[in-house]
Amino acid sequence: MAAMTDYPDVGLYIGGSWRTTADDLPVVNPANEQIIGRLARAGQQDLDDAVEAASKGFEVWSQTAPKDRAEVLRTAAALMRERQAEIAHDITLELGKPYPQAKLEVIRGCEFFEWDAGEAVRTYGRVIPSAPGINYIVHQQPIGPVAAFSPWNFPMSQPARKVAGAVAAGCSVILKPAEETPAGAMHIVRAFHDAGLPPGVLNLVCGVPSEISEHLIPHETIRLVAFTGSTAVGRHLTGLASDHMTPVLMELGGHAPVIVCEDVDVRAAAVTSAVRKMRNAGQVCTSPTRFFVHDSIYREFLGTFTERAAATVVGDPMDPGVEMGPLANDRRLAAMIEFVADARDKGAEVTTGGSRIGVSGYFFEPTVLADVPDDARVMQVEPFGPLAIVNRVGSLDEAIERANSVPFGLAAYGFTNRADYIDRMVERVETGNLSINTLEASVPETPFGGVKSSGYGREGGVEGLHNYMVVKNVSHSISIV
Ligand code: NAD
Repeated sequence: MAAMTDYPDVGLYIGGSWRTTADDLPVVNPANEQIIGRLARAGQQDLDDAVEAASKGFEVWSQTAPKDRAEVLRTAAALMRERQAEIAHDITLELGKPYPQAKLEVIRGCEFFEWDAGEAVRTYGRVIPSAPGINYIVHQQPIGPVAAFSPWNFPMSQPARKVAGAVAAGCSVILKPAEETPAGAMHIVRAFHDAGLPPGVLNLVCGVPSEISEHLIPHETIRLVAFTGSTAVGRHLTGLASDHMTPVLMELGGHAPVIVCEDVDVRAAAVTSAVRKMRNAGQVCTSPTRFFVHDSIYREFLGTFTERAAATVVGDPMDPGVEMGPLANDRRLAAMIEFVADARDKGAEVTTGGSRIGVSGYFFEPTVLADVPDDARVMQVEPFGPLAIVNRVGSLDEAIERANSVPFGLAAYGFTNRADYIDRMVERVETGNLSINTLEASVPETPFGGVKSSGYGREGGVEGLHNYMVVKNVSHSISIV
């Protein structure tokens, strides 16, 4: 074990107890490329044990009263609030997210648990009247053991969303966090353990993603696959699940358009956008990326956006005042370099940034590309990094057409005060989440998810538990007919 910091080693949690494995994998600090900890690598026997534990956990939890489930969710969330500083510290080390942002993420994760605790007691069915002497009663019941796969960009709030929905609905879960950032999931498991969740309801497995998904998804015990990550992997997992008629909840890539109309406060829209773009170094599925700005305000918007992006304080994510840390891994760094080179070749202007910073750590400059031609790769592929595209358009209709020109539809944004423009965006922008004059795409009480290749199903809101439940209709005749 090579941990040089107080970052925790992450084991497996199966059937209510922790275990280590003979094999493990390193966890790397992206700010300095040092190994900070080890991650257990689940073998086939561990995975079989997790499935058996989840099966037993489901028997217990699905028979637990919703108000008692809600109580465990609330207690676990309260423990995570108490442990906010420790959890945020670990997230900052493994992901490179500035510490204040990591602290906010911990609270957001707690809010998911608290929201779903409230929803747990409201999973109502209904009675459908028919002829006298017969009733049709619709029950909502937990779907069964869930295999949940969470990504590296929100190590706490992403697994929180899945665990909150599943546990509130009465399901058991086998959670696989991203191998780069397992600490948030580990802290969630610790909190639920301490809150008294029965053994087997929540299990944590880590290791090689394909080994885990290919073992768990075909298993007949698993009744739902919940995944957040790239469209390519989501498609692969959906294929595996469909071979077994197992339903999926898929939260996949975005490539969010931002339509900036001519009637707005240009400076306010540009500053807000540049700050938001660099949050989590742009590694956010709802990150505002493709800006379509009306010709009449284009130069002013681009100038202010560029100025604010260039002023982003980049550095050690533990240092106070730092707004942006490194990228999460070397794959993202390589991708940014490639996107910029390709866009330049195709004729885009780089108004700020475009290069790696230093030689140690995966730091990349906040980058703005202007007048990017449609054949540049970054116009089609989500950059998932600190890179914004600012292009000009002549009308709202043109902006909407270009917003809809990619296969994704997760988040979209508009800046305008005109009711007719808002109506047109609501009607025609292909997206699961549309935000006007704000770059917040979702909160725990609203449904979040995509259309087109951005996936299906919703997390959060009253819709959030529906994925984790099945509907059973009962026909009840008073006498035998
Ligand atoms: P990736 O698709 O390789 O990995 C994303 C997640 O999927 C990781 O947690 C990984 O562990 C998991 N994964 C990969 N292969 C898997 C498999 N066979 N079975 C189960 N899980 C598997 O992507 P990446 O290189 O980490 O990031 C690249 C792209 O992924 C980004 O450009 C972005 O578009 C997308 N991404 C999206 C989100 C999101 O919030 N929607 C989060 C992270 C990454």
